[in-house]
Amino acid sequence: MDVYQRLAQKLDQLPEGFPATGSGVELRILRQIFEPAEAEMALQMSPLPETAEAIAERLGRPVPEMRATLEDMARKGQIASFKMGGQQMYRMAPFVVGIYEFQRRERLTKELAELVEEYMPSLSQKVGGFGPHLTRVIPVNAPLKADLNILPRDDIRQIIAKAKSFRVQDCVCRREQGLLDNRCQHTLHCCLQYSMEEDAYAYFNLDGEVVSREEALRIVEAAEQEGLVHSTYNVEEAPGGFLCNCCPCCCGLLRSLKEFDSPYVLARSSYLASIDQDTCQACGLCKDERCPMDAISEEDGVYRVLAERCLGCGVCAVTCPSDSITLLARPQADRVDIAKNMIDWAQRRLAQREQGQG
Ligand code: SF4
Ligand code: SF4
Ligand code: SF4
Repeated sequence: MDVYQRLAQKLDQLPEGFPATGSGVELRILRQIFEPAEAEMALQMSPLPETAEAIAERLGRPVPEMRATLEDMARKGQIASFKMGGQQMYRMAPFVVGIYEFQRRERLTKELAELVEEYMPSLSQKVGGFGPHLTRVIPVNAPLKADLNILPRDDIRQIIAKAKSFRVQDCVCRREQGLLDNRCQHTLHCCLQYSMEEDAYAYFNLDGEVVSREEALRIVEAAEQEGLVHSTYNVEEAPGGFLCNCCPCCCGLLRSLKEFDSPYVLARSSYLASIDQDTCQACGLCKDERCPMDAISEEDGVYRVLAERCLGCGVCAVTCPSDSITLLARPQADRVDIAKNMIDWAQRRLAQREQGQG
């Protein structure tokens, strides 16, 4: 087996998965991203975070040389690097959400975009074929039923209030579709990352910008007006992560749900939209321009939400001219499972894959 085949196998053993295909497109993707020596080094990485010193000791290499190699690979988006407990850590990154999203502007070439598009059906089916869900929808700032308290994990503004560092970068899905001459008109530069660490992006930052809490909130607000769906990791508590603002045309998560039959890529929120028939003006805006999931039906001028398709994103409610759309709590039995934290998520997903032999 060559180094790319070994790396593909190791990436596939991570909870997210990186499936082999008959065409070998996954190997062509890895050849685009890694030089052979970089692929060898990626194979030496642990999926658990380690400092540069710990990796140097484990591999018997001088610390300065090891640090330089790790920084270079992190800058190329080949491994993950982040601040944890005040220290800069490095670990093996999954392909998604990870290596692919980390590809800087100049590294995401048209050729790579074409290969990833070719790989999408196989990748989505593997990543979205096993629970717990990889990511989940967080509702926009939509009206909730009067007696309903939103949980902190479901409130993007509470997550932002608690976090200490923020950065924004281009949305890789829209960039990819742009390279394929297929891009929509939604805002490109609105993919947020947050961390519970102070100055998390001061030492290491890919091609995004560090932003203040106020700017992060402004980006979220603009995304809601624009009709973008918020999503994040499917965990109760995270030391940091992404806050994506997704469009149904380009987003790999929403496309996986709609086009590739991959139910575990993106979980609906704990809410469900409902239309007040007494006040609805039958303007059609929610159905025709806002809902990303075709989850609103119309019959004889009566608009209804299709519960089985509704993501509980609240995008329809933001611009309803008569404030007729409210988010209700989904029945408990109908809610998706949210992992406690990233370790719980990884363990449960590996167990599910083992049972399903994926
Ligand atoms: S998941 Fe959504 S916001 Fe994130 S990169 Fe893709 S479309 Fe952009
Ligand atoms: S946007 Fe509001 S008023 Fe218009 S059809 Fe939808 S629910 Fe009715
Ligand atoms: S009806 Fe559509 S836009 Fe409204 S919450 Fe459900 S999925 Fe979102």
